[in-house]
Amino acid sequence: MRSDDLRARLMDIQGRVTEAANESLRKGDAVRLMAVSKTHPYAAMLALAAAGQLLFGENRVQEGEAKLPDKGERPLTINLIGHLQSNKARKALALFDRIDSVDSLRLARRLDGLIEEPYPILLELNTSGEAAKHGFKDEDALFFALDEIVTMEHLRVEGLMTLGPLGGDERATRAAFSRLRESFERAKERFDLPSFFELSMGMSGDWPLAIAEGSTCVRIGTALFGPREGR
Ligand SMILES: *Cc1c(COP(=O)(O)O)cnc(C)c1O
Repeated sequence: MRSDDLRARLMDIQGRVTEAANESLRKGDAVRLMAVSKTHPYAAMLALAAAGQLLFGENRVQEGEAKLPDKGERPLTINLIGHLQSNKARKALALFDRIDSVDSLRLARRLDGLIEEPYPILLELNTSGEAAKHGFKDEDALFFALDEIVTMEHLRVEGLMTLGPLGGDERATRAAFSRLRESFERAKERFDLPSFFELSMGMSGDWPLAIAEGSTCVRIGTALFGPREGR
């Protein structure tokens, strides 16, 4: 896609996201737009950056390694939003500004052991019950892990992330997002989480519902870049 078209789409989506956030009676800046750039070249990311879009999401370490400059050498904030295997944890920490898809206590322990400075993460909750999805399987599993994660020296849990049900109807989708928000509120009451603010939910097909349910970060790929090939 041409840079001009990409920027026009960005402006359009950014405007609608702000509008939806205002309708939900929250300040427009309370919902951030994350551009999901998987399968798209770094040049396309830079074209968006020139139009003010600085937050990006990638879902694979390998792809990120191949196309992204190092953390210190780019003007972009790029988070990992796809499942992370333990054996790629070190690379992921070096490459991404935040890991939004921490989905097991084992992975959290591994990350904490590999870094020396505070590092931000989100915990992913499976709110749809679909077996194929990653994420802690329910709130009990999430809270069991949080009991230990809050004591870890380096990990800073900034919030929760989820994916809406695949092809779910509006009711099922809203229910999933609502579950994430409720777990977020309960976690906030129960644990000592000094910078816990992010509810990452909503993608191209369901972001308005996510904002209505309290999303603070919508992850948009297709609606911005157009359809992906292969995946
Ligand atoms: C690909 C992806 C998105 C974006 O999906 P679109 O439907 O293309 O907007 C959001 N979140 C995650 C975790 C993804 O892998």
